[in-house]
Amino acid sequence: MSGSTITPWVVGNWKMNPMQSNAKQLIEEFKQLLQQHPILEGACHIGVAPISVALQNVQQQFLDTNRVIYTVAQDLSRMAGTGAYTGEVSAELLKDSHIEHVLIGHSERREIFGDNVEIVRAKVENALNAGLTIIYCVGESLEQREAGQAEQVVLQQICDITSVVKPEQWHHIVIAYEPIWAIGTGKTASPEDAQAMHAKIREGLCQITAEGEHMAILYGGSVKPENAVELANCPDINGALVGGASLNAESFYKIAQAFANTK
Ligand code: PEP
Repeated sequence: MSGSTITPWVVGNWKMNPMQSNAKQLIEEFKQLLQQHPILEGACHIGVAPISVALQNVQQQFLDTNRVIYTVAQDLSRMAGTGAYTGEVSAELLKDSHIEHVLIGHSERREIFGDNVEIVRAKVENALNAGLTIIYCVGESLEQREAGQAEQVVLQQICDITSVVKPEQWHHIVIAYEPIWAIGTGKTASPEDAQAMHAKIREGLCQITAEGEHMAILYGGSVKPENAVELANCPDINGALVGGASLNAESFYKIAQAFANTK
């Protein structure tokens, strides 16, 4: 099954970077590139995920762009609504601040900050109930891949959230397949391996929901301009979640351009 009619997404995950002045410059450079060579909204959804305190600044800076650039939160609280939860930001508070997209389940959250299945599930449930669109990250470790468990691990991570996704909410979910061993390492899954996993993910999604055929499945893990076209050519790779390369305006622009032109 192919998801090639799906509008691709290219999302930059800035992680705990950069300083505000550098972020401002990065956005200005990116906007300039977009102005010189526009990427049509229908050709590619584009988003950036800055640190939480910069969400609204970044959103403001993109207001005068000739197209929509989504501002994406990198995470949210497992607690819903408002209340005495020091340091937390809920789905409802993001929505109230006009932030409509959020990453959930990034491997750094799972591995470093202890986001286990229950926490990830609660975050997904809260985000969907608040009307946010989720970029749900899944991916196997090197040990799991070498043990031949990659598919099983990834499909289980998708099954982990099915109990909290209502049938009409699946179209608010974008999947990001990010093999952990490829994140920030310079190692990319080969286009063949990535496509094979994406096809399995799509098969799994189609068994869960009729939306599965239309859902975007992004690849993440050392995506750069040099490998973007090859990845974009794979029928079930509907975009990229980009870490390191999104901190350089030209690199990020070229990746978005690769997906916009290829799909
Ligand atoms: C990520 O952390 O989501 C990511 C894909 O990082 P990088 O592109 O740097 O591998």
